[in-house]
Amino acid sequence: MRLILLGPPGAGKGTQSARLVNRHGIPQLSTGDMLRAAVKAGTPVGLRAKAIMDAGNLVSDDVVIGIVADRIDEADCRKGFILDGFPRTIAQAEALEQMLAGKGTKLDVVIELKVDQTKLIDRIIKRAEETKARGEAVRKDDDPDVFKTRLDAYNRDTAAISPFYSERGKLIQIDGMRSIDEVSADIEKTLSHLDEEVESR
Ligand code: AMP
Repeated sequence: MRLILLGPPGAGKGTQSARLVNRHGIPQLSTGDMLRAAVKAGTPVGLRAKAIMDAGNLVSDDVVIGIVADRIDEADCRKGFILDGFPRTIAQAEALEQMLAGKGTKLDVVIELKVDQTKLIDRIIKRAEETKARGEAVRKDDDPDVFKTRLDAYNRDTAAISPFYSERGKLIQIDGMRSIDEVSADIEKTLSHLDEEVESR
C-alpha cells in the first residue's frame, strides 16, 4: 500500500503514521525527519536545509525530491510506504507521479487530515510542553512564530495538493479534530474499504 498523509503542520500526520507503521508493517517516510537527520549528521543537504527549516520555510523541491527518490528505492519500500510531509508542492507531487510510474506503480490513496487551523497553535504549544516534560529537545520550528510561517507555507504552496489528488480520484478527507483513536479508526476504515475495492476488481 502506497499512501500519502496530507494536512497542515500539527494535524497529526506523524502520530497517525506511527500507528500505520505498526498495523501495516510498511515504513513511514517523513521528509521532515529525514531532513532533521541530515542536519544532525552535518551532511551537505543538512547544511543547506538547516536555516530554511529553522525559519519555517520550505526546502527546495530538487533537494526533497532527491531524498525521496533515493529512499523509495530501498528494499523496505517494495511493499509500500506512508509519505508524511511529502509532497508539499505541485512540483513535488508531479515528480512523485513520475518516480512511481518509472517503477510501474502508483499511489493507492491520499488521506487528508482536515483540521481547524485556528486550533493548531494550541496543539503545537501542547506538543512542545509534552516534549519538554519527557526531557526531550523541543523542535526549533515548533516555536509559535515559526509555526505561523509553516502554516503560511502550507496555505501558499501545499493546499493546492488536495485538489491535485482529488482530480485524480485519490483523495479521501478525514476529520482530524477528533481524538487520536477516532482519527486512527477512521483511517483504518478507509483503508479496509480500499482493500475491498481492489479485491472486487
Ligand atoms: P515536518 O517535520 O514535516 O513539519 O517538516 C519540517 C520542515 O522540514 C518543514 O518546515 C520544511 O522546512 C522541511 N520540509 C519537510 N518536508 C518538506 C518538503 N516536502 N518540501 C519542502 N520542505 C520540507
